[in-house]
Amino acid sequence: MRDFYLAASPDYEVFTKEVDGVTLRFYTRDYLQAGAESALDVAARAIEVYGKRYAPYPYTELDFVSTPTYALGIEYPGMIAITEWIVEPENFYLEATVAHEVGHQWFYNLVGNDQLDDPWLDESLTQFATLQYFTDTYGQSGSAGFRQDLEGRWNSIGQEEIPVGLPVKEYSNEEYSGIVYGRGGLFFEALREEMGQGNLMIFIKLCKK
Ligand SMILES: [Zn+2]
Repeated sequence: MRDFYLAASPDYEVFTKEVDGVTLRFYTRDYLQAGAESALDVAARAIEVYGKRYAPYPYTELDFVSTPTYALGIEYPGMIAITEWIVEPENFYLEATVAHEVGHQWFYNLVGNDQLDDPWLDESLTQFATLQYFTDTYGQSGSAGFRQDLEGRWNSIGQEEIPVGLPVKEYSNEEYSGIVYGRGGLFFEALREEMGQGNLMIFIKLCKK
């Protein structure tokens, strides 16, 4: 494991779910049970999608914890922090956030990269993986909303043709969202269309070396 993370609170209750031999746990407050169970349903589907698409999930456990983090979610090996205000079943951000953070178990964790100098190799790829989660779960039409999210991020900076491969420090906050989370995800989708899924995965492995 490449990182160590600890979260503690006397208020945490734990909700669990099993998928393909993996125990999923969500630590949160008891009144957020419905949101936690929705998140675990998404996580179970995501593990199945990425397991089929890329490689089996490498551990026997995956833990979630709700925290007051300013980010929607943050990834660690075998553990994911989700900001508490989105832990409710109908929350607009919950499914995409959980699917994205689970995707990081493959891109950032299983296939490691330098997150500060090459953020496109974990964030853009994970946005692309999240698009595949929505496609595999709901079909092409069901992934339209997330595709629009990627396009909307890039549109928000006027589709500026800033390279996707810069270090984090080279981007403003708006550019980081628009380029690394928006344009970069669309870049991998365009590559997949051009190269085919199998060739794209070989290309990604070469990039990581
Ligand atoms: Zn991310």
